[in-house]
Amino acid sequence: MSRPRLHANRGRVAARFGGEWACRCGAALDIAADRGLHARCPDCDASYRLPRGTVDGACECGLPAFETPSGPRCLDVDCERAAETGP
Ligand SMILES: [Zn+2]
Ligand SMILES: [Zn+2]
Repeated sequence: MSRPRLHANRGRVAARFGGEWACRCGAALDIAADRGLHARCPDCDASYRLPRGTVDGACECGLPAFETPSGPRCLDVDCERAAETGP
């Protein structure tokens, strides 16, 4: 079973994930490849740098969650809920 790796094939990843994730405000996040991948909300101007790793479900806050080399985390680095759901 292969899961998408976000740091490979940036253009394809952007095409693959663009519009699939929803911001906390409800709008669809745009994925932009600009010195790394960023998820941006056209409505509330939220911007999140995509972490290295693979998408693994969703955080309790509604944003996608990632499995990274340093552990699971939310798309939002400052998300408090992600910190609570550790091992
Ligand atoms: Zn938003
Ligand atoms: Zn979160």
